[in-house]
Amino acid sequence: MKWSAVTATIKEGRLRLLVLISQMLFGYIHPRTAKALTDLALHLRNEELPEAAKRVWNQVLTVMDASGQSTPFRNLGMQEVLAGVRKFQRKVFRSEQDLFHRLAHSQHPEVLFITCSDSRIGTLHITQGHPGELFVLRNAGNIVPLPGNGMGGEEASIEYAVKALGVKDIIICGHSDCGAIKGLLHPEKLNKLPSVAAWLSHAAETAMLAARHKHEGLDEQAIIAAAIKDNVVVQLSHLSSLPCVKDVLSQGKINLHGWVYNIETGEVEHYNFHLKSWRKL
Ligand SMILES: [Zn+2]
Repeated sequence: MKWSAVTATIKEGRLRLLVLISQMLFGYIHPRTAKALTDLALHLRNEELPEAAKRVWNQVLTVMDASGQSTPFRNLGMQEVLAGVRKFQRKVFRSEQDLFHRLAHSQHPEVLFITCSDSRIGTLHITQGHPGELFVLRNAGNIVPLPGNGMGGEEASIEYAVKALGVKDIIICGHSDCGAIKGLLHPEKLNKLPSVAAWLSHAAETAMLAARHKHEGLDEQAIIAAAIKDNVVVQLSHLSSLPCVKDVLSQGKINLHGWVYNIETGEVEHYNFHLKSWRKL
């Protein structure tokens, strides 16, 4: 199939998708065709496809996986999640059985990774780790409530990581385009989200710093970017005030790290406590 025909199909959309996919299923998928499929998937989005087309599309993804083609972004509905579990059990688990047997009865992670619940952050993706290598705590806005203030399990998870697992490093990782931070800066948009609004009160200091940036004349995007970084520093200060962390910090047995991950560029900036500034990793 010629590139121009593929492009025409993308423009025409929808019904011709099935024809295109059927052709792709019979053998090698040319990179340009894979790119076309990716564009087409983005164009149509899974939820707009009829059920039959979704099933064929999943077959295409499987073929692309097997041929080493990169798979395009798609929204995971429940059907795709279940298909993913079956694929994991059939392929990944079998090929990495030794790892899972080793992990079956114990874990020894050395790093606690605290980050936002945002779906775009793949903790093992960013760090190129494997199951068993990172202890992860996630919530909206990568927040660590002050001692005694968090009934959501944050303090318990951190205490377990520090005292039971003996982690040596704790990373708090914020990220670009963080919805929690945007909500914090625009509380009027949280009228219908009372639990989110209450939770973000643990980042009140961040909101105060943002108000200062606004007063200094920063524009909206700059304020958001600054607030994402400020929030990491604020939450690091909360973290270091937890009794379980305070103990090991005073003994020099643990290191704290502040990171911000940029979703668009893949860059990670880290906070230098001495210079009070951010640098690329
Ligand atoms: Zn976020």
